[in-house]
Amino acid sequence: MGETAVKSSDRMASALFMLLAVATALHSAEPVYEVGLASVCITPEHPVWLHGYASQKRFRPFEGVLDDLYARAMAVQDAKGDPAVLIVADLCVLREPEETALGEVLTRRTGLERRRILLNWSHTHSAPIIGTSDVNRYPIPDEDRRQTEAYTQRLWNQLADVAVAALADRRPARLSWGTGGVEFVKNRRQFSADGKYRGMGPNPDGPADTSVPVLRIDNPDGTLRGVVFGTACHPVTLGDTSLLVSADFPGCARQFIEQRHPGVQTLFVQGCGADANPDPRASADQQEWVRRHGHALGAEVCRVLSGPLQPVTGPLRTELTRVDLPLAAVPPRERLEQLAKGPFWESHNARRILEAQQRGDSLPNHYPAPLALWQFGDGLTLVAISGEVVSEYVPLVAAAVESRPLWVAGYSNQVYGYLPSSKIVEQGGYETLGLVSAHVGWFSAEAQDFLLEAIRALHCGKAR
Ligand SMILES: [Zn+2]
Repeated sequence: MGETAVKSSDRMASALFMLLAVATALHSAEPVYEVGLASVCITPEHPVWLHGYASQKRFRPFEGVLDDLYARAMAVQDAKGDPAVLIVADLCVLREPEETALGEVLTRRTGLERRRILLNWSHTHSAPIIGTSDVNRYPIPDEDRRQTEAYTQRLWNQLADVAVAALADRRPARLSWGTGGVEFVKNRRQFSADGKYRGMGPNPDGPADTSVPVLRIDNPDGTLRGVVFGTACHPVTLGDTSLLVSADFPGCARQFIEQRHPGVQTLFVQGCGADANPDPRASADQQEWVRRHGHALGAEVCRVLSGPLQPVTGPLRTELTRVDLPLAAVPPRERLEQLAKGPFWESHNARRILEAQQRGDSLPNHYPAPLALWQFGDGLTLVAISGEVVSEYVPLVAAAVESRPLWVAGYSNQVYGYLPSSKIVEQGGYETLGLVSAHVGWFSAEAQDFLLEAIRALHCGKAR
């Protein structure tokens, strides 16, 4: 090798070194997370009862599959910390006994502390009943009950599998954030002219969180790898006459995005949609509306993905606590008997409280509701509230937590029943139904203040 060649290769080495140094500097200025993604189909292999409508029309196993149900996981880890996993699923409810059982399986299989695991259910009303908490509410024959139990056991393993697979898939990624909006999400609390709660139906004047949060996951070269998105709306486009398994509009939205971006993984996170339904819904052409709402949401996510997004950077702090939310004082017996004759949302807990009193059971005065928070550096804050959370909590949490951007999710870590705002407790109506299945009672109007105070404390890092 001649002298010139050596010098030339020296120059090349030096140029390469400079390039590497610049690349390293850029790299360190650009915080990169390790992100892993995984998906598993959780459609039942055998017909089981569906959840969501306590309706006689649904008192039988499902009759077919409109579209498959999925559980999906995103493992995320900052440069120095331990990983955390978000697990989302096309499922309806998660009562406390099932959350405990699932939490044990997940922590054992992943080796992660429970606070590093965040569960969010889409709340589709065309997914199976899971566990045992709710089977006792329905006249389920023994054989169907056994199928539900078998499905649940298989599901716990699948949810652990998908979390483990996401953890194993971790590789460098960048995150960025944006929001959009959809029009089909409508408040569902109707009032008569005198201001009294009338019943369920679209109320265009009522509050709803129509925002569409979008978390974009990129490979280090800037190519799209995944997207976590949501909206705040009951997936009840299919009414109680439908006996088909379906992820409802969130599933169609995922399909839409994945067709536009082949190979990209999508995760749907349910927001504070307890008092919002898609409009229209439960119509003769309801399957067509599942597709239309899904496409509207999917197209909006694609639009946000193609626009300018705010980088999400910094260390990830994950918190999970149980907030003792106060329950309303038990009304006198006469009042309970009156309520027990009222509409379902009044009679449900009244009857169960009367039964508990007859058995001599002591009644609780609070409910320990899970509350999670994921804080990405000084940037994105994800507040994940358990239960069916009404939309009024979105501006309330925004006022309590000053940092922006902010993502407020509901249906996280447990779905024990409705979590109304103070205003809704006073107004009454379906969303004041209270605790369901494993626990009894109504939330008091003060529950809102306890929750907001706990969110403030978690955000400041004062509580764990
Ligand atoms: Zn619901």
